[in-house]
Amino acid sequence: MSNAGGAELGVIGLGVMGANLALNVEEKGFPVAVFNRSRDKTDELMVEAKGKKVIPTYSYQELAERLARPRQVLIMVKAGAPVDQTIEHLVPYLSPGDIIIDGGNEFYTNTERRAAELAKKGFEFVGMGVSGGEEGARHGPSLMPGGTAAAYERLRPIVSKIAAQVSDGPCVTHIGPGGSGHYVKMVHNGIEYGDMQLIAEIYDLLRNVGGLSNEQLAETFHEWNRGELESFLIEVTEAVFREKDPETGGHLLDQIVDTAQMKGTGSWTVKEGAELGSPIPTIASSVDARLMSAMRPLRLEGAKRLSGPKPTPNKAEQAQIIADARAALYAAKTCSYAQGLGLLARASAERSWDLNLGEIARIWKGGCIIRAAFLGRIQAAYGRDRGLANLLFDGDFARELAERQDGWRRTVGRAIQSGIPVATLTASLSYYDALRRERLPANLTQAQRDFFGAHTFERLDRPGHFHHEWNQ
Ligand code: NAP
Repeated sequence: MSNAGGAELGVIGLGVMGANLALNVEEKGFPVAVFNRSRDKTDELMVEAKGKKVIPTYSYQELAERLARPRQVLIMVKAGAPVDQTIEHLVPYLSPGDIIIDGGNEFYTNTERRAAELAKKGFEFVGMGVSGGEEGARHGPSLMPGGTAAAYERLRPIVSKIAAQVSDGPCVTHIGPGGSGHYVKMVHNGIEYGDMQLIAEIYDLLRNVGGLSNEQLAETFHEWNRGELESFLIEVTEAVFREKDPETGGHLLDQIVDTAQMKGTGSWTVKEGAELGSPIPTIASSVDARLMSAMRPLRLEGAKRLSGPKPTPNKAEQAQIIADARAALYAAKTCSYAQGLGLLARASAERSWDLNLGEIARIWKGGCIIRAAFLGRIQAAYGRDRGLANLLFDGDFARELAERQDGWRRTVGRAIQSGIPVATLTASLSYYDALRRERLPANLTQAQRDFFGAHTFERLDRPGHFHHEWNQ
């Protein structure tokens, strides 16, 4: 039965993302059938969708009946058990050949487990990372679908229309098999954590050492957004600096409690980096920075008990501080992307995903939270050399970092002298320094390990593993 005239996509889960994606799909010319566990969200959406080709349904069975065959169903519910429950309820009404897509932020091993289970029943399962928040979902997100090439080909007409559009195409590509789409989304989020923390540290420095007011910060970020740092997050930050608090009339930013929250994709990325032996110190320290921020009661106690320098504004050097901070932010951000892409390369090799890093940079140029002009330069770098061992080895990036490193080092030095925590800026700088260091002090680490644990070491002058009877 083909159910000609049925909706071309079903959406389950009409929270922020699902409802907006459904409206986006409909707007691009694809009738959509929607379902939500609790009825009220469906009814709410139907108020907004009045007169549009959005079909409300109130059971899994009704949803399945209203879809064109073979069916395509997008699940947009909370990650974890809710996805399993949704699949369990839905599957009895599907037929072999139908495609189930999970658009949530799911851990990739869950996706691989579901794909294997559903394949046995004849269904395709696509784990699709979606980035761009509410606005992206409604008007064009960046989409990272992973699964079989055949399933992607079937989804392509819809996903390539609903995705954000940039000069060289829609912000969607077939990422690779299995859980690779969700994996790439996870690393995207890790990179987002790094970007946000780098901006936060620069804000701290400009405000407390540079002595910039919120208005001056807004002007500075406005200026930066017209150059090499042009990005959604810089644009958003400028707007945040300008926003007034309707209650006090002051700046809203100054009223916000300094404890950052998180949902988990950052920590997953950090665990994966450690698991695969792929260092991501900038991303790891950005997760730690959120954890430090969340220990507010302890920090308030620490402020009373612990001594150290107190930052004092140095307005005489303000112009230099701003110029150096700009250089530091760009260089540190580049190192962070080098780490994230390094992790992707490692995962790709480990799991035979054949990820195309240039293409991944391309689909991040629009729709998503980390969209930035410099992703075009990353795309070009991998275009020149698909097997680039590290982003920083690309000639253009190597030159850009060389040009900026004096300002970067001065920025980190200034912050440390002033007692401002800049673990993330520093993590990037140490990554850069470690990467260009022929000899690290790990010879000592190996000696210690052999001393107390007979773990052996390798020698520079001949191959093999050696143990020494250390003079105890
Ligand atoms: P949300 O607004 O919190 O909505 C959650 C949805 O999940 C609701 O429709 C809820 O149904 C449904 N749900 C929860 N438990 C369920 C269960 N056991 N069975 C069936 N449905 C269940 O969520 P959201 O922000 O749209 O996010 C959805 C997914 O997209 C998440 O994985 C999230 O991480 C991911 N994501 C979010 C964003 C973002 O900016 N918000 C961006 C990218 C990706 P009820 O109404 O019945 O409770």
